[in-house]
Amino acid sequence: MVEAQFYTRTSGNKVLCHLCPRYCEIGDGQTGFCFVRKNEGGTLYSLAYGNPYAVHIDPIEKKPLSHYLPGTRILSIGTAGCNLGCKFCQNWDISKAKYDHERAYSFTPEIVVETALERGCPSIAFTYNDPVIWAEYAMDIAKAAHAHGLKTVMVTAGYITEEALPIVYDHMDAANIDLKGFTENFYRKTCLAHLEPVLKTLKTLKQRGTTWFEITNLIIPTLNDALEEIREMSKWILDNLGPDVPLHFTAFHPDFKLMHLPHTGGDILEEARLVAMDAGIHYCYVGNVHTKEGNNTYCPKCRTLLVRRTWHAVHEINLEDGCCPTCGHHIPIFESAPAQRNANAPMYEVLN
Ligand code: SF4
Repeated sequence: MVEAQFYTRTSGNKVLCHLCPRYCEIGDGQTGFCFVRKNEGGTLYSLAYGNPYAVHIDPIEKKPLSHYLPGTRILSIGTAGCNLGCKFCQNWDISKAKYDHERAYSFTPEIVVETALERGCPSIAFTYNDPVIWAEYAMDIAKAAHAHGLKTVMVTAGYITEEALPIVYDHMDAANIDLKGFTENFYRKTCLAHLEPVLKTLKTLKQRGTTWFEITNLIIPTLNDALEEIREMSKWILDNLGPDVPLHFTAFHPDFKLMHLPHTGGDILEEARLVAMDAGIHYCYVGNVHTKEGNNTYCPKCRTLLVRRTWHAVHEINLEDGCCPTCGHHIPIFESAPAQRNANAPMYEVLN
């Protein structure tokens, strides 16, 4: 087991974890809320370090990232556990799992990087469960990845302390932050968490300006689908982060503790996209449904089609030196080299 960072000893053999805003005080022999940080005799250990539950290759558009290395494959890993308690979790088989040797794979940071290189993936994603809880492992993978010219991506709820954020994100090139709703009531009742720390994370990432990030809002029928809430969220994004942070509205499917709710229809996602674009957000997408235009990138100034996508597949990138070829407007897309796009390689692979 690898000793964790971000903790202090308190009374007796207890420890206080400062990695996420839960600030768990953990007794000797116990784990925190996330199940993967364990106190043994007054020392906090990361059970997840080197022990992923899932190792896959995905298109980067699945994360979702639409403006970062479009059309490339990304090696994606996740472990057991999570620091949120979302009732709609779509990966609950791992996020609610307690660490178990039988299910975990032994993958050192060096092996993760070697695997990405062998498979021609220009980047590595920390994803599926929330990588904040295994930050030490993610940071060590990121250091090894950067030594080989690979990029790193956090796919996260953004539930991290102000103290840990700069240390972790110094190692991250890009992120997708789940903004799960826009009311404290939704966060408290449906995610067992709070909204404010997530908004702080978004503002801090914007102020730092060193990690490219996009936002995902999973729309769940009856719980967070009010257009007024989406309008308020869009306005907050515009006022605090500016118009160029891409916003993805994705569809819920019945899962975990919300089996009684219906799938999200494409219409509400399209409406949400229009509401956000009306509010002034330049790049809005819909995900997990078939859509005519909602996967594409258009120039916000002249509406030229710049990137044509279907679901997670990129068919065409139409930029000239990072700008719209029609009007010259600069488009914030970190383009991949054509050789990285692996057009003939399978975009989805399960490696474990
Ligand atoms: S990272 Fe885990 S142990 Fe630490 S405060 Fe958050 S939930 Fe608790």
